[in-house]
Amino acid sequence: MKDASKNVAGEENGAKKGAAHKLIHHLIQLQELMIARDQQHAAGGNLESLDESIGALMDELDDSVARQFTRLRKKSLLAIVPVANQVCTACGMSLPISQVQLVRQARTLHACPNCARLLYYPDVALRAKGRWAPRGTAPKVGVARFSSPELMMPRMEATTRDEAIAEMCSLLEQQGYVEDAAHIASEALKREAVASTAVDHGLAFPHVRGVEGGGLVMVLGISKKGIRFDEAERSLSRIICFMVIPTAASAFYLKLLAGLTQTFRSKEAREKVLAEEEPEKLWKTLVKLTRSTLK
Ligand SMILES: [Zn+2]
Repeated sequence: MKDASKNVAGEENGAKKGAAHKLIHHLIQLQELMIARDQQHAAGGNLESLDESIGALMDELDDSVARQFTRLRKKSLLAIVPVANQVCTACGMSLPISQVQLVRQARTLHACPNCARLLYYPDVALRAKGRWAPRGTAPKVGVARFSSPELMMPRMEATTRDEAIAEMCSLLEQQGYVEDAAHIASEALKREAVASTAVDHGLAFPHVRGVEGGGLVMVLGISKKGIRFDEAERSLSRIICFMVIPTAASAFYLKLLAGLTQTFRSKEAREKVLAEEEPEKLWKTLVKLTRSTLK
């Protein structure tokens, strides 16, 4: 955990950071761990090591901040959210420029005057690119609301986690969904450093939150050989769902995750997607398999 925050600090390009800057990163990590826990809980996974990490981060907080954070997390999924285009990305409230400046300076914690969530100003804004509506003329229901045939990778070339994430991010950039694949990939790896997104049955859900300017988008990557996503895990990941998530879609993301996990709990469903060789066919199979789990 310590290492991940050091990386973040190391990437600051000499900009002056306020006293609350470290605390903000601490809270973002804590929140990611808590969401990872929700996710693991929904998938029926083991919670022990996540609980330990969450406990350790909570212990380092001042009582008043810990209380505020816990209270906010009880009300909704996100307690701390980025500001983008002078707007609170959780509730959509426009913030006065003076407040945006204060959030940016990060001398102390600031809260959204409307929804009370804590605010931070991202080091580098993660921007989505214009093209968010997946192609095609079919009515947008189920999985078609956030993915499309061009985002299917039935045969990933990657043999490592980092390569897999880079490969999926490149496709998103190629297809016009994000501006900077390398930056998105490095954010996804930071997220993996907080807690691996690999879960049972050879599934992994790498992702980047706070990509503003579009909707939630998913790439489905299949690795026939399997990729080691988590050093501590013996099992390899073969079905990899990479997602870029705008802050406002965070709650929807958890629902989506639950639906996909439900689908791929079935061995038959996993075998079907692993057998596909062509993007179009993989897409059709995915649509069929998720018809009842993603509505
Ligand atoms: Zn707000």
